[in-house]
Amino acid sequence: MDCIFCKIVNNEIPSYKIYEDDILIAILDISQTTKGHTLIILKKHYKNLYELDATASSEIFKIVPKIVNAIKKSFNPIGLNLIINTEKPLQTVEHFHIHLIPRYENDKFDIHFQNNQNEMTTEKYISVKEIIKNNL
Ligand code: 5GP
Ligand code: ZN
Repeated sequence: MDCIFCKIVNNEIPSYKIYEDDILIAILDISQTTKGHTLIILKKHYKNLYELDATASSEIFKIVPKIVNAIKKSFNPIGLNLIINTEKPLQTVEHFHIHLIPRYENDKFDIHFQNNQNEMTTEKYISVKEIIKNNL
């Protein structure tokens, strides 16, 4: 399969590796959108978040606190965002991975949560909640 992250996992393409175990690797994202921007990549090829099973998801999240604490200790960011882009066009590499993005004063990384609370009603909340719940 022509997958860039499989190639990195198999050491066919070099990477700046922070951590490796049997299940996953943590490497610097080539873009370094902020200093210390890191990717956690499962060694096994899952296309995206929708395809993870319970075991794989718990195995990958188990390592997150260790890596984010190392980043915090290294660069003392003001905070950190954890991002999982899921499906094109959001996701550009279709091999499941987690972005760890340390945040700094005046960095150029932008994430904005629009607040639509004013447009909501109790009925609307219930309707949305029921739709999702019925699809569990
Ligand atoms: P996505 O958009 O799929 O969530 O993110 C893919 C990420 O992979 C991007 O942030 C991009 O910079 C990174 N990336 C793409 N190719 C390479 C590569 O060859 N090496 C590394 N280290 N990162 C890569
Ligand atoms: Zn892959």
